Amino acid sequence: METYKQLQKEFDKKVEELQNICPHKRKQWMDKWWAIGHSAGYQVQVCLRCNKIVKEKPTAEERKKEFEKHIKEMQKGCRKHIKQTDI
Ligand SMILES: [Zn+2]
Repeated sequence: METYKQLQKEFDKKVEELQNICPHKRKQWMDKWWAIGHSAGYQVQVCLRCNKIVKEKPTAEERKKEFEKHIKEMQKGCRKHIKQTDI
């Protein structure tokens, strides 16, 4: 008897095969959600035929840079805050 895991493996393999041969002609931009009601804060272009994410806006690399910039600014702000309260 097949288990859920086996069926899922088979499904994933078939989807991968489809995505590899699909020309991704019909695509649509949509918000990426990491959970229902929680936008991931970026958009993805998904192929309507094979469901592959073709593009991301901003890209993973751009999102990483933005995040690092944000952390640096927070650290700067924090240091400034410490100086101000020390005076
Ligand atoms: Zn496709």
